[in-house]
Amino acid sequence: MIAEYLEHALQFERMAVDAAEGPLKESLTNQALAYRKLAEERATRLRLHLPKAAAPIARPNCPRCGTRMMLGRIRPAHGKPDHDERTFECPNCGNEISEVVKSK
Ligand SMILES: [Zn+2]
Repeated sequence: MIAEYLEHALQFERMAVDAAEGPLKESLTNQALAYRKLAEERATRLRLHLPKAAAPIARPNCPRCGTRMMLGRIRPAHGKPDHDERTFECPNCGNEISEVVKSK
């Protein structure tokens, strides 16, 4: 059940990443958050700990100007199975950084 909620959350997050800026992106992001919340509430009730990879994606601050960065895209990391490359974009100065994280 929890895995199912998280799966929904991930689906909505991926759609939100692909969606253009606007009401649709916002609504997809909100739905992803709602599913994450459901999963967390259920996990708390069952006294389970969510796997680390299931934690919401932490958005870093731009190393250049300090603005909170936006998640731009997620794609499979090159040459590293089971890893995703997350690219963050700075809405203020356009700086981009990426990190490679284990996907599961
Ligand atoms: Zn910046």
